[in-house]
Amino acid sequence: METKVAIVTGGNRGIGFEIVKGLCQKFDGVVYLTARNEERGLQAVKKLEELGLKPLFHILDVTCEKSIEDLAKHISTHHSGIDVLVNNAGILDFDKAISSYDDAKKLIDTNFMSLLSITKILYPLLTNTARIINISSDWGLLSNISKQVWFDRLVKEDLTVEEILEFVNEFLNAAKMGKSAFVSIAGNYGDYKVSKVAMSALTFVQQRQFSEQGKDISINCVHPGFVMTDMTKGMGNFTPERGAKAPLYLALEAPQSLKGAFLWHCNSRVNWD
Ligand code: NDP
Repeated sequence: METKVAIVTGGNRGIGFEIVKGLCQKFDGVVYLTARNEERGLQAVKKLEELGLKPLFHILDVTCEKSIEDLAKHISTHHSGIDVLVNNAGILDFDKAISSYDDAKKLIDTNFMSLLSITKILYPLLTNTARIINISSDWGLLSNISKQVWFDRLVKEDLTVEEILEFVNEFLNAAKMGKSAFVSIAGNYGDYKVSKVAMSALTFVQQRQFSEQGKDISINCVHPGFVMTDMTKGMGNFTPERGAKAPLYLALEAPQSLKGAFLWHCNSRVNWD
């Protein structure tokens, strides 16, 4: 039987590191810790090796298509496919409730647009029963969007990826126009909220597409809790290990029939809207 493959993006620290750790302990296959910086990635691998675990390493900057393509080439050369993909990499400047246009663009490129590149380049390698776990946020619930027209459009059963892109672009155009236009769509930290709402919406659209294609792939998104990491400047209620619990549940234990769900950190399914 072929060896199974799990991949975690942004695995060198925080919640991603703990997801890699948990997978190394329990996943029946090889686990790739990926990181955009080789030195930081290899240091993280070393930490896990010191615990007796054996992650593999590959460099991956999720904002760079060439980097995603290099990973895809490596996987298709050495393995038969991808069984678990955890889209964890993300950014947020906790000190800036209102970002400049350039910062908002960078955040949305990292937290959301990267998923479209990953879809194009890595999804063709997914096995027919693969599990995709998108690390969203409570700020990825639809209630974070104050503009009713988007609230109504994003819940449509037949929502498309193009419409999600329209939503994201409308926000970026507002960010270009300055603070009040920016805030009118999603309030403070609007860029982060928009990126995570878009990620969540994409999860549901892609689940529908997989089902229409007759594939048994599951894609779910999850709020890991308020977790003490570099992103939150150490604030939060949960350790990174606790934050990894629900993502690990989705990767390892959830029934394959759990599809297109928004999961809370206690593993219960919640309404996105
Ligand atoms: P950290 O800031 O601790 O870690 C973020 C990780 O993402 C780092 O490994 C970082 O790499 C990586 N990363 C950033 N940009 C890229 C990129 N372009 N390519 C590849 N990797 C990248 O954050 P957390 O562990 O807290 O967050 C993990 C996920 O959980 C994020 O998606 C976040 O939005 C989400 N989340 C976190 C919550 C929390 O309370 N902490 C709450 C809800 C959701 P590097 O070290 O090189 O910067």
